[in-house]
Amino acid sequence: MKPENVCYDIAMMKNNEPIIFDTADGQELRINMIGSWLKRHFGSKIVKLSLDGGFTCPNRDGSKGTGGCLFCSASGSGDMASDAADNITKALKDQIRLLSAKWPEARYMAYFQSHTNTYASVDVLRKTFDPVLDHPDVMGIAIATRPDCLPDDVLDYLGELNEKTFLWTELGLQTIHDETAKAMNLCHNRKDYDNAVQKLRSRGIRTVTHLILGLPGETPEMMRESLQYVCRSESCEPAIFGLKLHMLNVVRGSGLPERYPGYVPYGTMEEYIHQLIDLIEIIPPEITLHRISGDAPRQTLIAPEWSYKKRTILNSIHREMRLRNTWQGKAL
Ligand code: SF4
Repeated sequence: MKPENVCYDIAMMKNNEPIIFDTADGQELRINMIGSWLKRHFGSKIVKLSLDGGFTCPNRDGSKGTGGCLFCSASGSGDMASDAADNITKALKDQIRLLSAKWPEARYMAYFQSHTNTYASVDVLRKTFDPVLDHPDVMGIAIATRPDCLPDDVLDYLGELNEKTFLWTELGLQTIHDETAKAMNLCHNRKDYDNAVQKLRSRGIRTVTHLILGLPGETPEMMRESLQYVCRSESCEPAIFGLKLHMLNVVRGSGLPERYPGYVPYGTMEEYIHQLIDLIEIIPPEITLHRISGDAPRQTLIAPEWSYKKRTILNSIHREMRLRNTWQGKAL
């Protein structure tokens, strides 16, 4: 097992030896999941705290577009986030109090997922993000945003944060295919993404890229192209630190049901799992996986109707990988 985020030995991959990333729960984990990676990195369990910074989105207020991305529900992309924009520090402490009763040894990552978390002045960003780092048990911070919402002064601030703490920035790319991006009303494109990754990399900031599988009009080959593009390496180092991959969820409150009535991204869970594993096999082992399934709330989910069963999906993916005797990066 290779414990850290460094280039995996090519000889090991050529010998076709399975890479086992973790065996903590008694099962072989053949995917470089971020939970295990963080545990190795920090030496203790790391729990993500979902915090809502109260930001809006430039794809809703007209500065980039209106109506939002077609798959995004009216409340934004972080439906599972805490509802505590007005008092982040209090929300943080409340969550830690509850979670520490269950996992006394745990430490935390503050996770700002809802809407566009760099869509504000640097002054506002400082007031939002800096206080969470005062808590002694918060080991780092994850900030999700759009690729076209990282002006230079914001990037400089993120660079500062990166010096002080463990930081990753999440970019909602979803697809490299500009025709799909247009159809989904993303109002950003591959060029914006390339620009953002290059600027984040030049400041040493980790990037986690979101891709959605099963967008209308996308073939398996197109999804593969998106994945290969974002996973490209530059001098033995993948351009990104992590990936979020998940099936499209059609939810109430989004524009999808009206624009694509009756659209179901994957007919069965098995179909999704098979395609996902084919993709995982071409992801370099150094890249951490932050999500491999959706987490749409059941109350608003329209399709695929099985996608709220996150635990079942995850267990099935890991079991299928063992059955296939495959692992992340096997097909590279
Ligand atoms: S997915 Fe993100 S960028 Fe798109 S509308 Fe929702 S909050 Fe805005």
